[in-house]
Amino acid sequence: MKKNIFGMDQLQLGALMKHLGQKSFRGKQLFHWLYEKRIQTFDEMTDFSKDLRSQLNDQFLISHGKVLKIQEDSEDFSKKFLFEFSDHEMVESVFMRYDHGNSLCVSSQVGCRMGCGFCASTTDGCVRNLEAGEMLDQIFLVEQTQKERISNIVIMGMGEPLDNYENVMRFIRIANEGFAIGQRKITLSTCGLIPQIKTLAGENLAINLAISLHAVFQQKREKIMPIARRYKLPELLESCDEYFRITGRRITYEYALIKGVNDQNDDIEEISRLFRGKPHHINLIGLNEVDGLPFENSLSANQFMKRLQANGINVTMRRKIGSEIDAACGQLRKKIGIR
Ligand code: SF4
Repeated sequence: MKKNIFGMDQLQLGALMKHLGQKSFRGKQLFHWLYEKRIQTFDEMTDFSKDLRSQLNDQFLISHGKVLKIQEDSEDFSKKFLFEFSDHEMVESVFMRYDHGNSLCVSSQVGCRMGCGFCASTTDGCVRNLEAGEMLDQIFLVEQTQKERISNIVIMGMGEPLDNYENVMRFIRIANEGFAIGQRKITLSTCGLIPQIKTLAGENLAINLAISLHAVFQQKREKIMPIARRYKLPELLESCDEYFRITGRRITYEYALIKGVNDQNDDIEEISRLFRGKPHHINLIGLNEVDGLPFENSLSANQFMKRLQANGINVTMRRKIGSEIDAACGQLRKKIGIR
């Protein structure tokens, strides 16, 4: 069976060329054709000999998933894309327009095994990791459909990116070096896998790290995010401080406001106590409610933000995107009904 080379990094492409009896710099040329030029056939690689192109054709292919469905929100013009890959597994991405450019929320796994109580992606567990090429496909196919460039990526869709570490690192490097998306324009969001956060700190990447915090009391966090039982809040916050010390990159803490759960006075006081005087950015998010799950969007978001600001907390509120398009990840995939 021919191997798909879309998603291989420079090292892998260099090894592939060596295997074909070529000098490894040919791998760099292949990388350029694949990701900078985005050609679809080996025959377009004009600086390769006819022989080499036919060898590539015989053994490899350049293949992509396909767009299965697009939903558009008539209010904010965000779009949700549903993709299908060769094994018929599906993931979602959300395309958003901002003043600072187009942004894509990328999925990293089919499903997720983290079990967050408010999330549609996790209800059937994790089916499989996405390959780097399948994450790149989300950018590639959206740009092809939209006929416009994506300048920002948030790895915040379906899946826990640090649970698919190697593929996500490969994806980030190719998106940066091949698709020319600046590292500072890439945000990776994790529910808090401490060992991987420590490893990430040593990757020498200037990406943004976001922690899905959502609660600042251990017991409360455990109730909505089971991962908190394994990685306790104080250790998580300590690993975040260490990440900042090593990388110099300030962390964003995502906080989805859930009515009656984490939008109370004691939550405001505890956030203030934990973060005042430390490098931080708290990003409040309106909860995208999911059919069948018992959590509702909080109605006191503005008040919550103002009180945090008064306490000296660096807090912003993310524009709620895609209310009409089931923007919480995992919903469209479920509606299509394969899983
Ligand atoms: S919120 Fe993220 S980490 Fe949590 S279950 Fe959903 S996809 Fe997984």
